[in-house]
Amino acid sequence: MDEILKLSKEVIPSIGLRTIYRNIDALIDDSKLARVDYPGQPMRYEFVTGHERPHIICTTCKKVFWMNGGMPKIEIEEPDFNIIGVELILYGNCQKNSCTKREDKSFS
Ligand SMILES: [Zn+2]
Repeated sequence: MDEILKLSKEVIPSIGLRTIYRNIDALIDDSKLARVDYPGQPMRYEFVTGHERPHIICTTCKKVFWMNGGMPKIEIEEPDFNIIGVELILYGNCQKNSCTKREDKSFS
């Protein structure tokens, strides 16, 4: 949210949080924007494109990445169930030099 406020103020310096929230809610109501609320992460907002990719979260530096390709095919045992959405998170360690909290940087 801080990032949205900062970017919005660069375009419209007088914009307030209430206006931003109202516009976000309208975009969510129109299914153009989705709230992405993962444990231990600040609330994120992403545009709904129909080509969503699974998120990958580094458990060390907490950065969020996206998996290449689309969502894997999901099969469920319950035949009388209509899936309307999927959220998939993979956890791991990013191994990047910029991984701020990495303890072993000797092979970077
Ligand atoms: Zn990392």
